[in-house]
Amino acid sequence: MKLRAGALAISTIAFLSSSSSAAAATQPPDLGMAKLSTITIDTTTMPGRRLLRYTAVMVNVGAGPLVLVGSRPDTSVSEMQVVQQVSDSSGTTTAVPVATTMFYAGDGHNHWHTKDIEGGGLRRLDNGRKVATLAKEGFCFFDNVKYRLTLPGAPQTAHYTNTGCSPNQPNALTTTMGLSIGWGDSYPSTTNLQWIDITGLPNGKYRLFATADPGHVVQESSYSNNGAWATVKIAQDRVTVIKYGPGA
Ligand SMILES: [Zn+2]
Repeated sequence: MKLRAGALAISTIAFLSSSSSAAAATQPPDLGMAKLSTITIDTTTMPGRRLLRYTAVMVNVGAGPLVLVGSRPDTSVSEMQVVQQVSDSSGTTTAVPVATTMFYAGDGHNHWHTKDIEGGGLRRLDNGRKVATLAKEGFCFFDNVKYRLTLPGAPQTAHYTNTGCSPNQPNALTTTMGLSIGWGDSYPSTTNLQWIDITGLPNGKYRLFATADPGHVVQESSYSNNGAWATVKIAQDRVTVIKYGPGA
């Protein structure tokens, strides 16, 4: 009996250990940007200024969803600390601290935003020097664009909705934002602050770029595919696209 029990215990341990080594295969998201679109110059929103606007869609082409959970101890603390929930192939979820925060409103939208999960700007084409930066700094992402639903594990209907952005809940103590496998989150060119102020910029050729997770603050399976770009020619109030770079 004792021997049997011991043999059983050993085989159980072996099973658990092989199961946990399989579980070591984490399934992080892989963020990128869809091909840029709707690149225009707006001279009316802020009279006297030229705003280069474009539509940006952050996409997830990875093996798992991007899930960020913000929380704060009470309402006297204005910003939420953030963890990323990363799952593995066994279904175990680990919370990993993320070097960004969530804040409320700030862009005319009454909801929670994650800081710096996207970036964008303009570089001179001749020397690569950065000359301007995207005005928008906070993002509330959820499944609102069907991007590549053929990816393994992609839900065919939206799983994360904008309720994760906690609209009209300034007193929320926690909020969850997510982007499923195969889905995208769109910021149309008409969105408030979805612009680069190019007032005073000389005419010429530039590289417009947009980057998901520019600071590499969330866990991803790859950081080499996070950006999309377009080469543009700017002449006074007109912008012409010379070439689009590919999306994720
Ligand atoms: Zn907003």
